[in-house]
Amino acid sequence: MEQQTPLVWNPLLRQYLVNAPHRMSRREGTTACPFCADLSEGRVKSDEQVWLHPNDFPPLLPPVGEAYVVIYHRDHQRIFTQLTIEEVTRVTHLWRDLYQDLSTRYPAVMIFENSGEAIGQTQHHPHGQAFGLAVLPPTLEREMETVQLESQAGRGCPFCRVRAEVLDVDGVYEVGANSNWQAFLPPYVRYPYETHIYPRRHIADLAGMHDDELRDLAEILLRVARGYNALFDGAMAPMPYLLGLHQLADERFHFHVEILAIGRAPGKLKFAASSESVWGMWTNDSSPIQKVQELRAAIQQVTEK
Ligand SMILES: [Zn+2]
Ligand SMILES: [Zn+2]
Ligand SMILES: [Zn+2]
Repeated sequence: MEQQTPLVWNPLLRQYLVNAPHRMSRREGTTACPFCADLSEGRVKSDEQVWLHPNDFPPLLPPVGEAYVVIYHRDHQRIFTQLTIEEVTRVTHLWRDLYQDLSTRYPAVMIFENSGEAIGQTQHHPHGQAFGLAVLPPTLEREMETVQLESQAGRGCPFCRVRAEVLDVDGVYEVGANSNWQAFLPPYVRYPYETHIYPRRHIADLAGMHDDELRDLAEILLRVARGYNALFDGAMAPMPYLLGLHQLADERFHFHVEILAIGRAPGKLKFAASSESVWGMWTNDSSPIQKVQELRAAIQQVTEK
């Protein structure tokens, strides 16, 4: 029987996966850049730095979902950490526009970036991705369940509580902050340098974010990514990472960014192996407090420059 939708239900884990067999034929590491072609073929105005490119091999199509590539810069060679705060601020503004659009059609908006060949980045042009999705991905569903449980129990927002009980108690988990955002490694990180970024105020999604918050988000994202590359005097650069913006159009939810940095030491990557992939049980073989100190020092190095 022909499959009608790319969403396939796993009745045992009670979650969906996306089945997209046509993506096997997508180009990988080819020389002709489809995003540079947007410029040379006149699809992007001469004064535009950031733009959306439809995913040429979309894993999702309406009404199940939509997929886009978010182009960060016209310059094919420029990597994220080489962008200025003003340039990344244009990216965070595009994220907000895209979220506002997709969230009118889909309950889940997944804005994310796979950075680095080690974890499957196939095009070098600086970019991220976005999906609108008709169902909640399991991680957001789980986080929203926690929000609902805590709210029903009268304990308020669990993310605000993590801020109060983990982040603000003695500051040992914080790696960097500005007036609107705090970056930290909570004790439950899966990867040694996994960094979570929380807004200081309770806000559910990008839709309600002010311009100064988007600018400060750009600043802290750049600082953390540059800090990764300064670890071990640059011996781990460029740090491969998976970055995701977690948000939901429910005012009880609390927007946050999670950056899963894949490197664990110079030349060494942390793999999601049997324990993680077969059982869903993560093992972190490092001390978060020690990694906080390393990353904080690396971030201070790049901030002083
Ligand atoms: Zn390009
Ligand atoms: Zn909150
Ligand atoms: Zn999250």
